Amino acid sequence: MSRLLVVSNRLPVTVGAAQGEAIVTPSMGGLSTGLRGPFERSQGLWIGWPGDLSGLDDAGRATVMKELQALRTLPVELTADELRSYYEDFANGVLWPVFHYLLDRIPLHSGGWEMYRHVNAKFAAAVAAQYRPGDTIWVHDYQLLLLPGMLREQLPGARIGFFLHIPFPASEVFRMLPWREDVLRGMLGADLIGFHTPSYARNFASAVVRLLGHEPVVDELAVAGRKVRFRAFPMGIDTETFTAPSPPHAGEFQPRPGEHLLLGVDRLDYTKGIRRRLSAVERVLTRRPDLRGKLRMLQIAVPSRESVTAYQDYRRRVEEIVGAINGRCSSLTDSPPIHYMYRGFPQEQLISLYRAASVMLVTPTRDGMNLVAKEFAASRTDGDGVLVLSEFAGAAEEMPEALHINPFDVDGMAQAIEQAVDMAEGERRSRMAGLRARVLRFDVHRWAEDFLAALADAEIGAPLEP
Ligand code: UDP
Repeated sequence: MSRLLVVSNRLPVTVGAAQGEAIVTPSMGGLSTGLRGPFERSQGLWIGWPGDLSGLDDAGRATVMKELQALRTLPVELTADELRSYYEDFANGVLWPVFHYLLDRIPLHSGGWEMYRHVNAKFAAAVAAQYRPGDTIWVHDYQLLLLPGMLREQLPGARIGFFLHIPFPASEVFRMLPWREDVLRGMLGADLIGFHTPSYARNFASAVVRLLGHEPVVDELAVAGRKVRFRAFPMGIDTETFTAPSPPHAGEFQPRPGEHLLLGVDRLDYTKGIRRRLSAVERVLTRRPDLRGKLRMLQIAVPSRESVTAYQDYRRRVEEIVGAINGRCSSLTDSPPIHYMYRGFPQEQLISLYRAASVMLVTPTRDGMNLVAKEFAASRTDGDGVLVLSEFAGAAEEMPEALHINPFDVDGMAQAIEQAVDMAEGERRSRMAGLRARVLRFDVHRWAEDFLAALADAEIGAPLEP
């Protein structure tokens, strides 16, 4: 079996300290769970940034390096300058808003392109140094868009896959990026390019035709005598985790009899549509006095990218709205309707919350997939609960039984929340059954297997049929 080299910006590990000793703990995100099978079977290697190691003394550093090696991970270390410019300024400051259609979030002086290229080249050198003929390379996400092209130059015969975990925007938006051709050429270094949804794949194809003039034939492109395939591989979740019985943990958030608990779980990111969602909840409270005191919204906002100005601004604006709504809608007898927490929770606690909620609100203005929507459905082993889902989340294409909303339409969202709260049990159960059937079937293991099977089929260097 060919050895799998996984490349992502961040290694799936956390480097910390315990009793003065440096320790490395594997962090089990969706991606590392999905890849665990093929990674172990192929005795693979994971290449990426390990986190900031600058605080370690020599002994600590040596321990960390040994532990990283034992986990079959290879660190690509980045200086504070590299990280700020490549990751914060360019990847999160420029690419993230463009790919999510939020052009007003791009800073006036968008910098970092040179450093982005430099860091991608640094990753390329690290991968090339490890590569052995027959290896399969799988590159992940928007921080490394140039890497497949750089690797193709250095390793012409390598089998290279690339997966984009965020949306690929309409070509009209993508072409606003000053470095658009370089980005496309970088991606086209891969033999197989995966997206979450067919519409992202179509957007990519139209950008390639328009900017580079390569005409696709169904899901294939001919690029410099090579065949490049691109298609949708919708990512799933680790269903085993979310269907497991959980301790009765939701504690004070166990809804009181007759109470409807609305739940929002997001990184605090301006793509998540948190402000309009809260306004929609306020509208329901205003329009439906019968629900006052019976409707509670629990909003988890996980701190994210706190050094990027646009995120600091967004946090302030979200917190202003929370305060304003609670100020307007609280009384001496009822608890405030919005319970807001600026922190993250371990997944077993999230599962209890998913199970305690009557209605899950997933209302991003754009989201590559949104795994929270799928986790909610998988967690509902009781077969109950209603999902209100933005039509601009990748997950919407696979979850037709959710109540779909336009996150820009506050009134429409308020109506959907009312519909969810009023929905009869029979309808709730039949919608949830449909959602669960698909989520449980197409899990993250299936996603990784499908991608790797398609990549194994790729004909390296094969010209397109005439
Ligand atoms: N998550 C978590 N703790 C929290 C909130 C979220 O572990 O307090 C996890 C959640 O279970 C999910 C991920 O973070 O797996 C969020 O993924 P999603 O695709 O919804 O959004 P992203 O943050 O990748 O944009």
